[in-house]
Amino acid sequence: MGEVVLSAENICKSYNNGSGELIVLNNFKLNVHRNEIISIMGQSGSGKSTAMNILSTLDKPDSGVVKIDGINVNNLNEMSLSKLRNQDIGFVFQFHHLLPEFNALENVLIPTWIMKKENMEAEALNLFSVLGLSERIDHFPNQLSGGERSRVALIRGIINRPKILFADEPTGNLDEKNAIKLIDLLVEINRDFKQAIVLTTHNPDVASIGHRRYRLEKGALNNIS
Ligand code: ADP
Ligand code: MG
Repeated sequence: MGEVVLSAENICKSYNNGSGELIVLNNFKLNVHRNEIISIMGQSGSGKSTAMNILSTLDKPDSGVVKIDGINVNNLNEMSLSKLRNQDIGFVFQFHHLLPEFNALENVLIPTWIMKKENMEAEALNLFSVLGLSERIDHFPNQLSGGERSRVALIRGIINRPKILFADEPTGNLDEKNAIKLIDLLVEINRDFKQAIVLTTHNPDVASIGHRRYRLEKGALNNIS
């Protein structure tokens, strides 16, 4: 399985809503090894997105420790944190925040510009073709359907070959044909580039690509056998 690329220990997270404290994560734990696909299922509102935001350094837990490549992300300043995010972490989230003033190809290439990687167009175009988006490379986000935007966001999330990719309900707004394409691509990048993947989903077929499968219940993960 290789070394641990992500570990989360005793993560707790609550929200204070008008009516009182809502405990969302309660001693949540997870270890992810290099090469692994982890799938997390759970009812709507069970805390999947909250967990993904914390695991991927976008949000902070109330208590507990997240380590990426053995480094406690809580000890990093903003500059080191953004370097880690650009270099090692890929995000495919529901609100994918494509930049409206850039076309699809440019949106995908932005992470490569940030990392000063050159000549990545061919790779990007190949991924557009794999996901059936070759005709959409010069469209702007507002000219794309929700499903097309998700796929562009996936390409943007994997273009720098991050050590760990977080995908929060990546097939949520895709039809079945495109969901299968996306899942095949995730399996392929995990196999070919040894990228760890943590994904959440409602769909048991999508969850089945996980080498380990969990259900998020009462703030923590239980094995699905
Ligand atoms: P899931 O992704 O599994 O649907 P979420 O992590 O989005 O679940 O939400 C878990 C619970 O936390 C829900 O009850 C949601 O309403 C609540 N919640 C999420 N974010 C906030 C927030 N910023 N403030 C207050 N409550 C929140
Ligand atoms: Mg969610």
